[in-house]
Amino acid sequence: MDRRRFVKTVGASAGTLALGTNGVLNAASGDVVAPASQSTQGTGSDVTVDVAVVGAGVMGNWTALHLREMGLSVALIDQYGAGNSKSSSPGEIRGMRLTYGEDEHEMLWARDACEQWKIREAEFGTRMFYQCGGLAFRREWTARNNAERALFDKHGVPYEVIPNDDLVRRWPQAPPPSEEHFGFYHPWGGVLSPRDTNMAVATAFKEKGGRFLLGKAAPGARAGGSLQTVTLSSGETVSAGTFVFAVGAWLPKVFPEVMAGKLSVRKAAYNMIGTPPGDHRFAVPNLPNTGLGLPSINGAGFGLLINPTDEVDPDQYERLPSAEETARVRQTLASRFPALKDQPILHVWTCQTEFSVDGQCIFDLHPEMDNVWLVGGGSWHAFKIGPVIGDYVAHRVTGEEKGLPEANLSGSELAALFKLKAETFA
Ligand SMILES: Cc1cc2nc3c(=O)[nH]c(=O)nc-3n(C[C@H](O)[C@H](O)[C@H](O)COP(=O)(O)OP(=O)(O)OC[C@H]3O[C@@H](n4cnc5c(N)ncnc54)[C@H](O)[C@@H]3O)c2cc1C
Repeated sequence: MDRRRFVKTVGASAGTLALGTNGVLNAASGDVVAPASQSTQGTGSDVTVDVAVVGAGVMGNWTALHLREMGLSVALIDQYGAGNSKSSSPGEIRGMRLTYGEDEHEMLWARDACEQWKIREAEFGTRMFYQCGGLAFRREWTARNNAERALFDKHGVPYEVIPNDDLVRRWPQAPPPSEEHFGFYHPWGGVLSPRDTNMAVATAFKEKGGRFLLGKAAPGARAGGSLQTVTLSSGETVSAGTFVFAVGAWLPKVFPEVMAGKLSVRKAAYNMIGTPPGDHRFAVPNLPNTGLGLPSINGAGFGLLINPTDEVDPDQYERLPSAEETARVRQTLASRFPALKDQPILHVWTCQTEFSVDGQCIFDLHPEMDNVWLVGGGSWHAFKIGPVIGDYVAHRVTGEEKGLPEANLSGSELAALFKLKAETFA
């Protein structure tokens, strides 16, 4: 949908956009943000907005905020609340890194996100990003590792290649896996706080006049190839010109006809490990993000990652570790972080990852509805790039193609990467 068509569509559904005392503003022109009282229109329990964003995980939250900042009236709808415990976005910790092999757009988006996190921290007055560096252990210069280093060079992103004995000297608390390993360290990596982020972004959205609605949303009435409403579990109806479904692992449940087999939804977890009293070696800024283990922030404990295991149903599975997963945690601590091997597991943040067939995020129009966007497929890495995703999706949704000139990607080439692919997991 192009921008002119988007403006026409929202105008058709939401009527004119009355924005504060400034009279009438072209919806997509952008720089006036309406007061909360005028950010939605409707009578009784029904709501009419320019854009309804369903799902308040990291993708939906940031998208709704960006759309609102463009001056659109926006409703953000979630069945449990922003960053809730059933979603993929909750908890104490997520990693930030720029190491994406030869995947240039991911690396550049992560770099841009680092800057965005800092800008937003200053704006929200909330600490979200703890920049303590990212450390990847490598055993050889594979084609992928060489391509990655070439991208760092190309874009002037600082890094260090650290010999084995220097690694042991600098971070003895997290020794390399073997004497053959060296380190690829980049200072822009670090750790993010999902708990503080989810709250801060949703709060900013509301303070800027966005409307947050609690309820399970289902696609409602259609007119031709367009969706007109979503119906909430409360019975409330939300009408909009455009709908963004950023529903994470629930995409195949909401749109089974299109999304069946397109996501692999798997259980994963961060085990938060206690540290000895007074021992700050496993807290920021004293240890980088090592991928497998993330340094503690806010006294939450050292975050040890359990890689994805079983396929799960996000509505049903118990967010509890199995005995086997706990045994793996103990083994990993003993072999990789020996100073923590006898420390208690303080709590376990279990949630699901939703992989797309090619590991790319999905930002695409529903093939049968020209005003419905499918947003998801975070594939293990969407949290860190949340602010950039929000900006990108908001532009796409309002009809603007956004390329990445630094990677020589035009708008349509970048969009092609995020298309819903024909392949399935089945
Ligand atoms: C253990 C683990 C570790 C990870 N580590 C990292 C990391 O280090 N770095 C990184 O960048 N990423 C990481 N990720 C990935 C990242 O957290 C996810 O990709 C991201 O959180 C996905 O966000 P989302 O908004 O797409 O989905 P979600 O967070 O699941 O949000 C979807 C929302 O939609 C709502 N919803 C669903 N259906 C409906 C409906 N019908 N009506 C209303 N609401 C609905 C849900 O309640 C939910 O809140 C990790 C993921 C896991 C599980």
